[in-house]
Amino acid sequence: MHLPENIVYITDKLAENGYEAFVVGGCVRDYLLGQCPKDYDVTTSALPEQIIECFKGERLLTNGLKHGTVTVIKDDIPIEITTYRIDGDYKDHRHPEKVEFTSSLKEDLSRRDFTINAMAYSEKTGVVDYFGGQDDLKNGIIRAVGNPYKRFDEDALRILRALRFSSRFGFEIERNTSDAIHRLRYLLERISVERIQTELCGILLGNCYDVLYNYPDVICEIIPELRPSIGFLQYTKYHNRTVYRHTIKATAESDCDIISRLTMLLHDVGKPDSFYMEDGRGRFKGHALISRDISEKVLKRLKFSNKITEEVLFLIENHSIKMNDTDKYIKKAVVRYGEERFLKLIDIHIFDNLGKAEMCLWENDFFRSIAQHTREYLDSQPALTLKSLKVNGNDMMALGFSGADIGKALNFLMDAVIDEHCKNEKDKLIEYLKRNRKNVK
Ligand code: ATP
Ligand code: MG
Repeated sequence: MHLPENIVYITDKLAENGYEAFVVGGCVRDYLLGQCPKDYDVTTSALPEQIIECFKGERLLTNGLKHGTVTVIKDDIPIEITTYRIDGDYKDHRHPEKVEFTSSLKEDLSRRDFTINAMAYSEKTGVVDYFGGQDDLKNGIIRAVGNPYKRFDEDALRILRALRFSSRFGFEIERNTSDAIHRLRYLLERISVERIQTELCGILLGNCYDVLYNYPDVICEIIPELRPSIGFLQYTKYHNRTVYRHTIKATAESDCDIISRLTMLLHDVGKPDSFYMEDGRGRFKGHALISRDISEKVLKRLKFSNKITEEVLFLIENHSIKMNDTDKYIKKAVVRYGEERFLKLIDIHIFDNLGKAEMCLWENDFFRSIAQHTREYLDSQPALTLKSLKVNGNDMMALGFSGADIGKALNFLMDAVIDEHCKNEKDKLIEYLKRNRKNVK
């Protein structure tokens, strides 16, 4: 393992002073997987005061001292050095009551969550692997260190970490560990939403299909709103999957960014509520709006930023609009939604189809051609915007429009100009609006 210079400096310095020092955890795992570690953690037999003594005169952060962590800032890069420790009893299924230092590396490794995360390395000793981490890495397995029931009971966040690593590396979760995850999933109620949000994003931004498929119960612990989708048959030729299975297929097929993934995960959450039968087939009229409203609650509860929430809700609300491949439609759509949002909305339609029956897939060529034409249109001329219209919000208010209806009226007039029903002149526009007022929607 080739360690960066600043890490070698730190481990050498500790060794010169008579202490053991290893890099540990994620960096060893990533290195053995042939991936570039994103950071290096150092573990040592030196006690916190001894670490501080070793690095006298260097820039240090000591806010993690209680947990045995001293951070040395070397070439502007913070490096965490932590004393070998055993975690005491866990008081709230998350935080150990107290930490105890130990002189045994093995004890330190045994408190770590999964075998693939419980290896250490030093140039002198090579890889230290007491729990079969290398084999599990080779075989693609996530396995708790020790008894999984005990380990998840100590810290329930590990349940979501298991799912996250499984998704990230495409690894399977070992049987015993998996059983414990299912049985102890209720412990997640003790984990803060901030942590849950982070782990959920990690799960979604990987090879998430198998995790969503195999752990719907855990996912519904976080998002109970998805529960009615599970096993919900659709009774339409366009779907050969239940709502949940369609949802997770579309999610896994979507681009790997959080907006796409959240949108697809929640886009049909309102389907069960809107279901009815008509002429022998299932219908879901209005489900996009219901999905939007349910998703708003979910995203707020999970404390997603306003920016992400607004974007996702827009896409969910509009995920099943009818689209056309005509110049006029594209011009109107770009004015109405904005160019970026419109292109994203086209993508969302494509992802949605990828989760539907085979017979729907042809439609994706149609959506791709709309996207292509939209890009050509945007390249050939600056997109029309509502600003180019010769009337504005004040004119609409003067005509008695207020609130959201102002935007609707302006969009209505923009459409009329693009459709050549009306010239873009103030008097003409006002007159046209007065005549067609009842059609503003
Ligand atoms: P990532 O690449 O996502 O940072 P990582 O394995 O480095 O993965 P960290 O959260 O940075 O994960 O934690 C570093 C190490 O600390 C882990 O590899 C693991 O050994 C240990 N660890 C982290 N969180 C826990 C936990 N909740 N329970 C037990 N051990 C943990
Ligand atoms: Mg890490």
